[in-house]
Formats: sequence, C-alpha cells, structure tokens
Amino acid sequence: MTKTATPYPPLHSPRRILMGPGPSDVPQTILAALAQPTVGHLDPFYLQAMDGLQSMLRHVFKTDNELTFAVSGTGSAGMETAVVNLVEPGDSVLICVNGVFGSRMADVAERAGAVVNTITKPWGQIFTTTELKNAIVKFKPKIVGIVMAETSTGASQPISAIADVVHNAGGLLIVDAVTSLGGMNVEVDQWGIDVVFSGTQKCLSCPPGLAPISFSPAAVASIERRATKVSSWYFDVSMIANYWGENRAYHHTAPINMTFALYEALRLLLAEGLEACYARHALNHRALKRGLEILGFTYAADPEHQLPMLNAVNLPAAVDDAQMRLALLEQYKIEIGGGLGELKGKVWRIGIMGHSAKSENVLSLLEALENLFVENRIVCESGVACRAANAVYLNG
Ligand SMILES: *Cc1c(COP(=O)(O)O)cnc(C)c1O
Repeated sequence: MTKTATPYPPLHSPRRILMGPGPSDVPQTILAALAQPTVGHLDPFYLQAMDGLQSMLRHVFKTDNELTFAVSGTGSAGMETAVVNLVEPGDSVLICVNGVFGSRMADVAERAGAVVNTITKPWGQIFTTTELKNAIVKFKPKIVGIVMAETSTGASQPISAIADVVHNAGGLLIVDAVTSLGGMNVEVDQWGIDVVFSGTQKCLSCPPGLAPISFSPAAVASIERRATKVSSWYFDVSMIANYWGENRAYHHTAPINMTFALYEALRLLLAEGLEACYARHALNHRALKRGLEILGFTYAADPEHQLPMLNAVNLPAAVDDAQMRLALLEQYKIEIGGGLGELKGKVWRIGIMGHSAKSENVLSLLEALENLFVENRIVCESGVACRAANAVYLNG
C-alpha cells in the first residue's frame, strides 16, 4: 500500500496535572486497560467483565440494587437516564437548585414532560430537611431530585436525612453523585436513595464516557407501572436491563474499551479501600485549604459544608482570572477550573479528584501559585503556603 501524504499529523496529547472540576488524572494502568484489544459486545470475556463491573459498582455505591450498571455516556447521560425513566408526562417533580447541576436536572425533567417545581438556595449554601419538607407538602412531587456534590459551588449536601422525608410523602429520590462517588461516602441503601448516578471522570479517575447508575426496587417498580413509553429510546432502562441482565439482548453496542477502563478504576478503588480513599481526599483537602487560605483565597461554600474533592474559592482582588489560569497551564502544566454560571470570573474550582488527590499535586499547585503571585507582585511570602500545607501532611 502506498502512503498518501496527509496534512493531519498524529495526535500526541500533552501531560497535564488535572486539578479542575474533571476530568481528573488517569493512572497509567487505567489507560493500559483502555488500550486492550476490543472484543465483541457478546464475547464471553466481555460478559464476564460486565458482571464484575456491576458487582464492583454495587460495592462502591453500597447497594444491593439488582439494576446497577454503567450508562453509555457521560454523567449527564446518567442524569438523563435517571430522570426520563421515572418521569411520565404531567408528573410533579421537585428539583433542589443551588448551582449549575441542579438547574440542569430541572431542565432535563422539563424536557421529559414533568411539571417541574424548584426550590432554590444562594450558590454555596445547602438545603435543610425542613425546607425540603415544606416544599414537599406544597408541591406533592412524585420525584425529588437533588445534587449531593454541587461542582459549580463546592457545596456538600447531606443526603442521609432526606430520603425519609421524600418517602413518607410517597415520592422517589434521585441523587446526583457525579462528583461525590469515590471521593466521599455515598450510602445508597442506608440512606434510601431511589436512583443514584455518577460519572467516570471525576473521583473515579477514568476518561469521561460512562455513567454508573443504580435503581432501588421501588424505582424499578415505578418504572414497571408506567402507562407511557420512556421518552428516550437510548436511555430506556427496561431495554438496557435486558442486555446487562440474563437475556444479554442486544440494545446498542456497548463502549467496550471504556468498560475495561472503568473496571480497572473500580478495581483500584476497592484495592485501596473506600474508607481509605475518602480519608485521602479529606487529608488533601485540609492541606490544600490551609495553603489557599494563606494565599488569600476564601471558600464559596459555607464552612460546615465544603466538599473535599472540589474546592471553589473566591479570587483575591489582585488576581487576574484568565491570565493566571493560562500561566498555570503553560508554565506549570496544571489545569484548574474557572467559575461556572453566576460564579464565572469570580471563583476558581480546584479539583483533587480520585488520583489527582495527592500531596505532590497539592504542593505543586501551591508552589506554582506562590511563584506567580510573587511575579505579579501580589503580596505573598514565598514558601509559606507550601509549609502550611506540609504541616497538615505531617500532623494530620
Ligand atoms: C460533571 C457533573 C455532571 C455532568 O457530567 P458530564 O460528565 O459532564 O456529563 C453532572 N452533575 C455534576 C454534579 C457534575 O459535577
């Protein structure tokens, strides 16, 4: 075969330190898992990998739910799957909105034909059980949706007390655990969550492309009682369950290699131990926070409700948002995130998600910021932030 010259060079993606709101750093063994030979989606080897994946997902979600699998698509596909399968046209849905991802869930529910009511809180704050109770009395929702880790604000919504309130009123609870899963405790059965979904590129440290999801028996029963077809063909779980379950009926071609990658990511997570992994996120958060506060950053979320894996911090007045983030990327190969929605230009979102949650990353970022602050004549004593963070690593 003769080779024709092409104007398109092969791609060689650069090495970055990913400390934004996702994707997070992907370890070499997960990249290697992705590069294994592609097999057929009904190959016995693949079916075994699917079984292993489901079993590990049940561990990570802390659930016995039979209907637990990975949706083909990113975290938003998980959100869409959760919503369109529970919602029938005209259903009353209540969504708690205190950031970008709550708004997104309300949008998805509206498109599915729900009558959507929202309760809102200023960005960075969370909902109390009483606020939720009052809204449930008022709107009598069939479905309540809430975001556990609001990635746009860094706020951590407690979930454990919420399900009872929803269930006592006869409703079902959907929880967005895209950013929380793998970085902090998510107890699906214990807390009584009816549908929970996540994504691969946040604390699971995979490339983006799959959305772990799990449905409680009550959620499955509600789907079985539907009078209308699910509005989405692709995300209809009654058909997808036929492929993940015993029938193995073809629905759509699974993203085979992404399954290999997620399998490896979950394997690494369980080998480390869930509790050890949450503790690692918490420790790195404390160290990062100590350093950032010395540099003059303050947190966007209330002190009692800050996420470990996503640090949304208000910029000191002298900091030029875009210029400084570009310098971090170009000079230090570190990516952090800017603000979303109403916090655009006002905050940075610094992620220590999954394998990005390590002292080397935290110290590299703090050192880079110290250097850039000195270069830009923003008041800063060199080395202080790093020393403070190091003290946290030494003393806990
Ligand atoms: C990232 C994120 C999503 C969306 O996931 P994508 O993978 O970007 O589609 C949804 N909810 C939350 C809380 C997120 O952080």
